[in-house]
Amino acid sequence: MYGWNGLFLRVDLSKSKAHANKYGAEMAEAFLGGRGFAAKILWDELKPGIDPLGPKNKLVFATGPLTGFALPSSSKLVVAAKSPLTGSYGDGNLGTFAAVQIRKAGYDALIVEGKSKKPIVLLVQDKQIEFLDAKDLWGLDSFETESMLRRVYGSTAGVLSIGQAGENLVKFANIVCQEGRAGGRPGMGAVMGSKNLKAVVVIGSGDLSAAYPKELKELGADAYREILTKPPYAFWKQQGTMMTIEWSQENSVLPTYNYREGVFDKADAIGGFAMAKAKVSQRGCPNCNMICGNVVKDSFGKEAEVDYENVAMLGSNIGLGQLRRVAALNRVADEFGLDTISLGNVLGFAMEASEKGLIEEKVSWGKLRATKSLIEDIAYRRGLGDMLAEGVRFSAEKIGGGSSRWAMHVKGLEISGYDCHAAPAMALAFATSSIGAHHKDAWVISWEMKVGRNSYSEEKVDKVIELQRIRGGVFEALTVCRFPWIELGFELEWYTKFLHAATGLEITWKDLNVIADRIYALIRCFWVREFGKNWTRQMDVPPARWFEEPLTKGALKGSKLDKAKYDVMLSRYYCQRGWDERGIPTKTTLRKLGLENVAKRLRKRVKLYD
Ligand code: SF4
Repeated sequence: MYGWNGLFLRVDLSKSKAHANKYGAEMAEAFLGGRGFAAKILWDELKPGIDPLGPKNKLVFATGPLTGFALPSSSKLVVAAKSPLTGSYGDGNLGTFAAVQIRKAGYDALIVEGKSKKPIVLLVQDKQIEFLDAKDLWGLDSFETESMLRRVYGSTAGVLSIGQAGENLVKFANIVCQEGRAGGRPGMGAVMGSKNLKAVVVIGSGDLSAAYPKELKELGADAYREILTKPPYAFWKQQGTMMTIEWSQENSVLPTYNYREGVFDKADAIGGFAMAKAKVSQRGCPNCNMICGNVVKDSFGKEAEVDYENVAMLGSNIGLGQLRRVAALNRVADEFGLDTISLGNVLGFAMEASEKGLIEEKVSWGKLRATKSLIEDIAYRRGLGDMLAEGVRFSAEKIGGGSSRWAMHVKGLEISGYDCHAAPAMALAFATSSIGAHHKDAWVISWEMKVGRNSYSEEKVDKVIELQRIRGGVFEALTVCRFPWIELGFELEWYTKFLHAATGLEITWKDLNVIADRIYALIRCFWVREFGKNWTRQMDVPPARWFEEPLTKGALKGSKLDKAKYDVMLSRYYCQRGWDERGIPTKTTLRKLGLENVAKRLRKRVKLYD
């Protein structure tokens, strides 16, 4: 095979053993890499019902066939496991040197299982695998951990680590690299912590083999040049995703006070222009020439990377209207290794619960120091923080009082930074995303604002699926960043050219869409297998707040979602995907996608229809 290395590295932490495991072209061509590999491995190898924080769970770090080549924004990896937050398939992506180094070390994925008896660092140097004592690192935050490891292994080593949140099994702990690039929202950091795995360090020295190396090199150089010519490039370089704060405010979709509103009085103070004035530097992922990690000095004088999601969730959603303060909370979250989107949700939830008298603790909106202290309690699971560390779904079940209606999650994963009182397509995208409510797979809201936000049209459903195919399926399997395409208009045709030069295969976008559908169907089957007879279409419905409590401010005052119309959209979504009215892929669909064996195994859990 060209493009792919054809090897996984399997690591058993219980036995302190590792071995390389060959896989063939069939796997590569059916699932590509990244999310595709992770979904296939977890479906095949995890028994339903296992404890996500037990040794039987497997943590997969998977790259794609373009990773490590000199191609724009191509140095991401997907980290996946059964999620402790949702109880089903979970993953996230990170732009990291680790992605490049895994490939240079000769592998396409690391698959980590078991549990080490004591805290360790997994060190992968080509074929040499070591399990290093991490007692000096355990208890440190992710920045300190990485800094200590970099002193030994150098600035381009792949280092992925967890902070105290992962060690303490906070259900939305993530994995951090390069001081603020983080991923694995559905508790991938907690899975790492449950295995006593403080960090993974990867150093590779090999070369990747492409089918047409000269062509690939030239294509890469052309592509980097092409990105620089795109009209939105200059503004993107200034603001990155931060420009979305102003856009969300203008369109009444900026999550505010736990998604009660879509506009925030102090939006300007936390927006892209405020950030551009305060910016001190920029960071980004390897192999990217449109880097978007904007760094500002926070209110404690430390450097903090800010982006739209973390500023919306730790700013407007908790009523905090000063950028340097928001940046301070973001920095603390990254140090502890807490996902900022879920964190902004649990904080907003706690503030509303306190306001309504459903918890004894006084938790006020918009307070820097008190909120910072609560974040510490979450990371260390102290007092109220212990309950919040379980996420909003659990917290709502615990405190009752009707709070489940405004616990903002889908399938247990907290919603990312877009209010959907008046955005039905985006609500559908959140509700049907493959890991719970995340915007990554189908960020349809910008398109939706242009075509008319109030309609529940078939066109909108089709657009959600189209985006899920491109972003959630193909880009996540190739482990390339979505921003060149979505933000700059870098054409999709580049990716089939890259794939041809790297792998030698003629793969069209039609083929890629089938692969994307296969991945989506397989992940859906994973969910259904976990939930069995408890699986219902209600799992694909966004929180009650958006249907029941209209916006009270801004131009969209009075807006809320219509449940009956949403249900029609959901039925159309299932129909277009070849899933039944419960949202379960039919036998025919699974057969068409080459997933006959999946159908056989799923039949043991639920009745399948044609
Ligand atoms: S655009 Fe931003 S997220 Fe994407 S690869 Fe570049 S730095 Fe990373």
